[in-house]
Amino acid sequence: MAQYYQPPVDIPIQLSGTFAELRGTHFHAGIDIRTQSKEGLPLRAVADGYVSRIKIQQGGYGKALYINHTNGTTSVYAHLQRYSDKIVPFVRKKQYANKSYHVHFYPEPTEIAVKKGEIIGFSGNTGSSYGPHLHFELRNSANQIPFNPILGGIDVKDTRRPIIREVFAYPINGVINQSEEKIQLNITQKNDSLFVTNPVVAHGKISFGIQHFDRQDNSYNKNGTFEISANLNGKQRFLARFDTLSFDDTKHMHKLVDYKHYVDTKKKVMRLFNPFEVAVPFVEFFENGLIDIHEGIRYTYNVTLRDAAGNSTHLIIPIIGKKEEVWVQKKQPNKGKMIQTDRDYLFEFDAAEIYFNANTFSESTPIDISMDKDTLCIENPYAYFNKPYKLTVKKTDTLKGEYLALKQANRWGFVTKRNAKGNFTAKLKNIGRIAVLQDTIAPTIIDQKNISNRWISLEKDIRFSVKDLETGIDRYEGYLNDNWILFEYEHKKGELTFRFKDPIKLSQVKHKLKLIIWDKAGNNTTFETTFYRKE
Ligand SMILES: [Zn+2]
Repeated sequence: MAQYYQPPVDIPIQLSGTFAELRGTHFHAGIDIRTQSKEGLPLRAVADGYVSRIKIQQGGYGKALYINHTNGTTSVYAHLQRYSDKIVPFVRKKQYANKSYHVHFYPEPTEIAVKKGEIIGFSGNTGSSYGPHLHFELRNSANQIPFNPILGGIDVKDTRRPIIREVFAYPINGVINQSEEKIQLNITQKNDSLFVTNPVVAHGKISFGIQHFDRQDNSYNKNGTFEISANLNGKQRFLARFDTLSFDDTKHMHKLVDYKHYVDTKKKVMRLFNPFEVAVPFVEFFENGLIDIHEGIRYTYNVTLRDAAGNSTHLIIPIIGKKEEVWVQKKQPNKGKMIQTDRDYLFEFDAAEIYFNANTFSESTPIDISMDKDTLCIENPYAYFNKPYKLTVKKTDTLKGEYLALKQANRWGFVTKRNAKGNFTAKLKNIGRIAVLQDTIAPTIIDQKNISNRWISLEKDIRFSVKDLETGIDRYEGYLNDNWILFEYEHKKGELTFRFKDPIKLSQVKHKLKLIIWDKAGNNTTFETTFYRKE
């Protein structure tokens, strides 16, 4: 039987990201396909169907396209440079009707039918993409839950086994090699599929964590592993299988990786146990993944990693049950007020209020809150937020261009403008230093093609470089002869582009162009000029 899905690209598939791999704060919902480090490769519908959704946003998936297929699945193509000539008119119509580059709509099933293999767009780097690639997903259409495209039959050559990089032992309520704190174990590679650690001497409740990756034959990136399982003397302790993933699950990544270790080292160690009282969805833990080590008994802890093509790697950790003297004692938690998970907390200052709901965190978390002159300091580098906390900052005198700012990693960033009541309110999942700052500098606009008073009949487009130093570009409007026109904005390039082939009728030869740009603090700059063009 012929494959239901064909590849979305014409080149051999090289992955720079796998399904459900651990990202900064989430699991990856699709696969990232390399596009030879360039934009503009043709993208093809993986099966017959119809365009079910089109979304263009500045961040996220950038220009994205969704196709519903006859078998009840949806394919998703993200970060496109542009849509196909057949699809563009539908997008333009919406953009001109809404007077916005950013659109989100659901075409009717009869509107844009596509055939398997038809070109539906071209690969790009739009949205939160840092380098040209195609982000591709397959989802169950009914509930929009993504599944692993490799299991769906998207063919990727893969004969390489997963690799284990680092192994850590966690004395949860016990001692390992005379330490009450996490220790790193030495590992030896015995052959191409077997890794062994030095024996550990332990007693009490302990578990392990591993840093691992998987590579496909044509990939150089360290990708995620499809299946991880662990057992003690043959008795299962842990099983994670990344075949599907609901979007509700994606935010639980911090429950599976050692988040503190990640903050300190940027390395993602997968914990093979659950340290919380709450469940970690898609992972099966047996007795929370903990193992109980007794005096005088020897154990073998086995970990098996398997990729979607079936290549596997094994890790053996020999354990000797023995009570020894403690040399390294458990560290004290960070300073600050301990925020328990089961109740709400309100912190009040003269000019600020901070409110934590119950279950803002997955575990009791100390938060250090203080006021330093006009700066509010909310600190704990290891805090991970399940839910945002609420913040209100009052300021009685009102200066032009004031905005609420958050300082993280030594950089102040825009949070919000003043609300109708004159205060600043925000829901945030980030902490750091918080203050009211002032931005009085309007954005700058540079006319890249010097169109002023020139004949530009041969130009395909008009381009402007736009920049705002402090708070950043918020919105923009472009008018040609007093009619709204579509400027595409690409924030990474700081570039606004208008293309003449858009549905604009130019009846005269002398044209008036107006462009207005606002920054997030409300400052604006207007660029007005005249140019000549005959169609
Ligand atoms: Zn991606």
